Amino acid sequence: MPLTLLECDKPIPEREKHTYIKKSGECIVPMCNVQTTPGDLTERGCTYAGCMGVVGGPVKDVIHLVHGPIGCAFYTWGGGRRQNLSDNTQFHRKYCFSTSMQEANIIFGGEQKLHKAILEAYERFPDVNGVFVYATCVIGLIGDDINNVCKQASKEIGVPVIPFSCEGFRGVSQSLGHHIANDVIFEHIVGTKEPDEVTPYDINIIGDYNIQGDLWIIAPLFEAMGLRILCTFTGNASIDDLAMAHRAKLNVMHCQRSTPYICQLMEEKYELPYMPVSLFGIEQTSKALRDVASFFGLEDKAEEVIESEVAKILPEIEYYKEQLRGKRVFIYQGAPRAWHWIKLMEELGMEVVGAATTFGHTDDYEKIIERIGDGALVIDNPNSVELREILIGYKPDLFISGLKEKFLAYKLGVAFVNGHSYERGPYAVYSGFLKFAKDIHTTINHPVWKLIEGRA
Ligand code: SF4
Repeated sequence: MPLTLLECDKPIPEREKHTYIKKSGECIVPMCNVQTTPGDLTERGCTYAGCMGVVGGPVKDVIHLVHGPIGCAFYTWGGGRRQNLSDNTQFHRKYCFSTSMQEANIIFGGEQKLHKAILEAYERFPDVNGVFVYATCVIGLIGDDINNVCKQASKEIGVPVIPFSCEGFRGVSQSLGHHIANDVIFEHIVGTKEPDEVTPYDINIIGDYNIQGDLWIIAPLFEAMGLRILCTFTGNASIDDLAMAHRAKLNVMHCQRSTPYICQLMEEKYELPYMPVSLFGIEQTSKALRDVASFFGLEDKAEEVIESEVAKILPEIEYYKEQLRGKRVFIYQGAPRAWHWIKLMEELGMEVVGAATTFGHTDDYEKIIERIGDGALVIDNPNSVELREILIGYKPDLFISGLKEKFLAYKLGVAFVNGHSYERGPYAVYSGFLKFAKDIHTTINHPVWKLIEGRA
C-alpha cells in the first residue's frame, strides 16, 4: 500500500498521489511541486511570499517596497512570522513600504505611483543603500513595466533600485519566489563591488536567513576554525556583502531548497565551488565543520572546535535523550528542515512517524524517504483538514511545524514546537540543538496537556 488516500480526501482523490506510506526497500516519491488541486485548501505561500518573505526580506539596508495592494504588503510587517534578525534594528523590519494600489491605479496603471513611492521612501530614509521592488499578482495582470520605472528611479536617487518580478500567481508555491530572488540578486548585485581585501579563508554562508539569530551561533564556529565570512546570503546581509560575495573561496550552502540556484550561478560564472551542509544537531553540524575544514586543510582546527562545543552540551543532551526516548514526532516544514530534523529526532532517541513539506521538490522527498522509518507517513503539502486526521490517527507526542499549524495542534491537545519561525530559538548548530531539545522536552511534559479534554 505505497500511496494512500486519507479519509478526508475522498472528495479530492488526486491527493492520493501526494500521500505515501514508507515501505522498506522502496522509494516512491509522492507527487510534489505541482499546482495545488482545486478544492485543496493549501497552506502554501505564493511566489511573492517566497521572494520577499524568505530571500529578499532579510537584506537589512534596503527599502523593501511592495508594489501591489496593501493586503500583500501585510506579509512584510516585521512581527508575526518574520523573525529574520539583523543588527540594523533601527530600520530593518521596522517599517513596511507599499504602493497600496487602489482601483483607479489598477485601471489606469501603477507606474507613476511606483515611481513616486520610490522617491518618497528614499527621501524619508536616505541612509539606505538600495530599494528592492516586489511585483505582486495585480502588477503582473495590469502589466506595469517595473524594470523601466526602477531604472529611471535609480538614476534619480543614485542607489540601486532592483525589480523582482515575483507575482504571486507565477509558481505553484513560494519555491519559485526563492528562485526568482536568487536570479535577480545574482544578476543585479553579485560581482558589482570588490572587497578591500581577500584572504584564502573566505567563505559565504548561503541559505541561512538568521531566524532568531541562527547565523549568530553558526558564524562563530566557522570563525573559530580560522575562516572569514565574507557574505551571508541573506540573513543579516547588506547589499555590499552580496555585491562582494563572488570573491569567497567556498559557498557553504545550508538551505538546499532556496539557494542551489545562486550557488550554481556563482560556480558557473566565478568558478566558486559550493558545499551542501546541514547545520542542525551534533552529527550533522560536526560533519559540516569537518567537510568545510577539509576543503581548506583546517582539519585539526575543526576537531578542536567540535570537541569543545560538543563537550559543552553533551551532558544535558544525554539527559533529554533519556527523557525523550521513544517519543513519537510528526514533522512538517517548508522543505529541507523536514529531512535535516529526522536526524535530530534520531539523536534524541525519538521516532519520526511522519514528515511533510509545504514546497519540497523530488530531491527533498528522496532524502526524507531515505531517512524515515518503515510505516511512516510522507505527505506533500498537507492542508489543515488532513493534518487534523493525521494528528488524530497517528497520535504523535509532538508536532513540529509552523505558526499556521500551532493552534490546530493546541486544539487537539498535541504538544507543539514552532520549527519554522521559532519562538524560543535559535535552533541551529550545537547550542541551538540544546535549546531545541529543551523546548521539545518542556512542551511534551507540560502538565497542561493532562487538563485538555478530547485530546487527540
Ligand atoms: S497571491 Fe498575489 S495577491 Fe496574494 S499575497 Fe501573493 S502576490 Fe499578493
